[in-house]
Amino acid sequence: MSIRWIGIAAVVAGLAPCSAYAWGHEGHEVIAEIARTHLTLKALAATDAILKTDVSNNLTAHDMASEATWADAYRGAGHRETASWHFVDLELDNPDLKAACFGFPPAAVPASSGPAQDCVVDKINEFAGELINPNTPADEKLLALKFLIHFVGDIHQPLHASDNHDRGGNCVQVSLGGVRTTNLHSYWDGDGSTPCEIRSSAASQSSSTVAEWPPDTTRQPTPILA
Ligand SMILES: [Zn+2]
Repeated sequence: MSIRWIGIAAVVAGLAPCSAYAWGHEGHEVIAEIARTHLTLKALAATDAILKTDVSNNLTAHDMASEATWADAYRGAGHRETASWHFVDLELDNPDLKAACFGFPPAAVPASSGPAQDCVVDKINEFAGELINPNTPADEKLLALKFLIHFVGDIHQPLHASDNHDRGGNCVQVSLGGVRTTNLHSYWDGDGSTPCEIRSSAASQSSSTVAEWPPDTTRQPTPILA
């Protein structure tokens, strides 16, 4: 992802509406495509087999990249109770994961049923746990996979995982040149990048090996569908 905007004037103000934006569809699709290239054949087959059962989903197409955008569409289709699951507002000047995760509330069973006040870190762990649990019902496993694919994408948007007392950049106005403006969070969601730029960046990432990535970006608590 380009960071050329860094030189652009940023004005901290309440000029932009402070609402939660989604990491753009393009970003989620690209991340899912990158993840797909790193799945084992067994994991790939298991993933596709689960997604193939998603016949009642009329919010997205059913391939993995399209399903990566499902959780945003689901939230927009009357499921605001899942809104907080898409981010973790870790304050830059005092990062406190427990506070940012609403005190780590006990997981509901199934995890797709709540609680509403939870963070993306908790939900990734909960849904990953459901996927590796052979006792998880098939319908919940499908939801867990769709949420997991999306939330792993969300957490790769820096402003879904950090906060500078500005609602994850939603309150920071940036200029795109001329009279075009947006806010910093929306810029990262795709307002400032073209699909070609994103796909080009993804292609270069895909040519890397996981071993070349910084250690923290590949650390996983548990293997998923390995
Ligand atoms: Zn999201």
